Amino acid sequence: MLDATPRDKVYERTALVSNPCKTCQPVGALYAALGVHKTMPHSHGSQGCAAFHRMFLTRHFKEPAMASTSAFTEGASVFGGGANLKTAVRNVFDVYDADMIAVHTTCLSETIGDDLHAFISDMDIPDGKRVIYANTPSYVGSHITGFSSMAAAFIDHLAEKSGKPSGKLVVVPGYVNPGDVRELKDYLGEFGIKYTMLPDVSDVMDSPMTGTFELFPKGGTPIEEVVATGDAAYLLALGSWASAACANALKRKHDVDNRVLDTPIGVAATDEWVMALSKFASSPVPAAIEVQRGQLIDCMLDVHQYLDGKRVAIAGDPDIVIGLTAFALECGLVPAYVITGTPGGGFEERITALLEQYNLVDKCWVKSEADYFELHQRIIQQPVDLLLGPSLFKQIAKAEDIPLVRAGFPIIDRYVHPYQPIVGYRGALRLLEAMSNAILDRQDRDCNDEDLEFVM
Ligand code: SF4
Repeated sequence: MLDATPRDKVYERTALVSNPCKTCQPVGALYAALGVHKTMPHSHGSQGCAAFHRMFLTRHFKEPAMASTSAFTEGASVFGGGANLKTAVRNVFDVYDADMIAVHTTCLSETIGDDLHAFISDMDIPDGKRVIYANTPSYVGSHITGFSSMAAAFIDHLAEKSGKPSGKLVVVPGYVNPGDVRELKDYLGEFGIKYTMLPDVSDVMDSPMTGTFELFPKGGTPIEEVVATGDAAYLLALGSWASAACANALKRKHDVDNRVLDTPIGVAATDEWVMALSKFASSPVPAAIEVQRGQLIDCMLDVHQYLDGKRVAIAGDPDIVIGLTAFALECGLVPAYVITGTPGGGFEERITALLEQYNLVDKCWVKSEADYFELHQRIIQQPVDLLLGPSLFKQIAKAEDIPLVRAGFPIIDRYVHPYQPIVGYRGALRLLEAMSNAILDRQDRDCNDEDLEFVM
């Protein structure tokens, strides 16, 4: 495959995607559903789809990703999967005692036109149990749109207004790791803000080893908290691709105001997050957060001489790539190639606006709905010093001998990363260490013996 990547010039294609920079919608819907407590994600399609989606998440998080399936065979594929879904819902409540089932569709069930609303309305759902759904055909969108649709479905199906304001802040963290969610919670804790994190994958996809298997780990947003979001004072959505739909749903349904921020990766985006919290809490920024910011700036100055002007290629999900690009620019790097596989949403315009601030528009190639095959061809023509993104970069890294710093989703060839944040000042510090070490390791490897530095 890598040998087949043309080395003479870049061949552009419009009708073929090779090595896409995304995966399918249900992966994201499944991940979002795991972030609500005692909820069983349910894949309405064939067993193969469910197996793939679960496996993909398990490989990234190194944790079991639980989900049930309607297990379509030939009959359901021809006559519709209503009967399968009915049986599945009964079994999941009887056997696994879930409090809620979050159904997402697949290519197959969408293509045959299964009407989930009609199916679920016609079911006998036990008292106190709930079934919600999101439409996630995978021939459009990506895992990010699937996540976004399921996050909005929580609001559409569950949110209620009791008339008694809770004063709470709803935070939609976007498609990030449990370590990122914990970091965001630390900020909320520092400000003393009462909040609902929706969805909350911490203590689910990073649950500790206790010796006892828990089908439903203790984490996840409690369902009653999701219901009560209609009484919330405000909503902050982090990352417009993954979280804006949820914010819009709550505004539409219960007139809860919101603000959509970039995922807080890097200095400026974290500043925005911190100031939004400060405004909501009507309190100054806590000293502990100011210290974290100051430490980050100090380290950025220390390593600036090694990063300045180095060319980096960045790939991954749009909200994350925007954050990584912004932070790369803050560090003096030149984002020579910036791609995402997720369509729509003005990705290219957002990246171009960032590049304009540094007068770098002409030095960068930016593309949404892109793939790694085209990116590889471009890197062959004009190499970079660093790759920044998911494991899918690994083949280009090996073929072209370029250091790779892993960030985003999926990272399926390394461990521990889901526990470590890339958001906030501490997350940026971690990224800074990884990027500068990668550059310095390469410098050490390639320099002459007499130039090998022990003290940097
Ligand atoms: S058939 Fe569609 S939903 Fe199923 S795994 Fe493939 S892309 Fe995903």
